Amino acid sequence: MKRLLLLCACLYFAHSGQAQVLPCLYDLGVDQLERQYPGYRDHSHRTVKEAVQAYHQRRDPDGSLFTIPVVIHVVWKEAEENISDARIEAQIRVLNEAFRRQNADTVNTRSDFQAVVGDAGIEFVLADIIRVQTDTLFAPEASLFGGVTLPDHVKQTANGGSDATDPVNHLNIWVCALQPISIFGTESPVLGFAYPPAGLDNWPAETPIPEEEFEGVVVDYRTVGDNEVYSIPAVGDLPMLGRTTVHEVGHYLGLRHTSGDGALAALGVPDCDVDDGVADTPNQGLQSQFNCDFSQNTCTDDVADLPDMVENYMDYSREDCQNSFTKGQIEIMRAVLTGPRAELPAEVTSSAEAQSATHGRLYPNPSSGVFYLELAEQQQSGSWQLFDGFGRLIMQSRYTAPTIRLDLQGHPAGLYFLQVKDAAGRQASWTLVRS
Ligand SMILES: [Zn+2]
Repeated sequence: MKRLLLLCACLYFAHSGQAQVLPCLYDLGVDQLERQYPGYRDHSHRTVKEAVQAYHQRRDPDGSLFTIPVVIHVVWKEAEENISDARIEAQIRVLNEAFRRQNADTVNTRSDFQAVVGDAGIEFVLADIIRVQTDTLFAPEASLFGGVTLPDHVKQTANGGSDATDPVNHLNIWVCALQPISIFGTESPVLGFAYPPAGLDNWPAETPIPEEEFEGVVVDYRTVGDNEVYSIPAVGDLPMLGRTTVHEVGHYLGLRHTSGDGALAALGVPDCDVDDGVADTPNQGLQSQFNCDFSQNTCTDDVADLPDMVENYMDYSREDCQNSFTKGQIEIMRAVLTGPRAELPAEVTSSAEAQSATHGRLYPNPSSGVFYLELAEQQQSGSWQLFDGFGRLIMQSRYTAPTIRLDLQGHPAGLYFLQVKDAAGRQASWTLVRS
């Protein structure tokens, strides 16, 4: 069955006779792991399903804010692949806007979908940038009947890449030049790939376990930032607004493509019988092809027939068309962060704390030394404690001024956690990134 799917994909690309962009190789990656670790696909789907059930049983899990530390590996050969810190910081900002629904173009979400979209309550902080110069190329290898092998060696120092940093507690993102995939002699650019949570703790006994150090996201360097253009022959200039990484992080947190990746879809025929496992995304039979077609409606829905949700980050619509996750997708990602990836967030702020945290403004963050925390009027006296990434208390003081000044110039780069308790006993915390 899986071979049939791959064969179908190959035939489609061969028939199309021109370059196709394969925005992401998620499904082919899952297929590769299925071959390596039989049962992987079902196990991953079950892991996410069980996480969602457990999430429902917890009391009031909504409203807390998850903060995820991110390590960016820039693995480069040509100088242009060694992207600037500014582009990386822009990418982190795009992630934060997307997962907090703070991007300006949320106004473009059509009224059909306004009721189902939401704020995921997930934030990202840049913990480290690792730069590795290499002579190695990172190419997905396709064979006629053997599926696709993804270039996971970008995640291995010994093979010309960069080893993951503590993948249980960090989201690792590798940025490199992903080589096009060649299928029947047709070359198709690839933008990224990621693996879903596999529930490694619960992996069936006496079977080989997928390697933890491969967890994370790989994206092509041309997609990273908030305002890039990727020129692809026969396709055109594609606006790159950092949403490839948003999409891949969606996979990493348990989301599938909105089309569900049905076998027929690989032939270019809408496959409406395969679902993405999310109740509030409309049934969609094909992924969009880098367009922004609001009239697209590949499947008739059971209840009210909605058009395809081209606004969704998990479609393949053009990046300036994507602006939303649905509440059903958000529930899955939050369930993954309290289930199979529960150790990933550096910080989980309760909704009450998150609310009080909004009464203070921390700036600049990241900073190479001095940070300021400007507090709202009612919080202007109390005490604070600063902890390093290992949870060690490194500074503390009382304060009676609206602004707290923190000088970390004599301390190493990394994450720090500030806890503030005001005179009324209200607590709030912030994550500081010392660059
Ligand atoms: Zn994808």
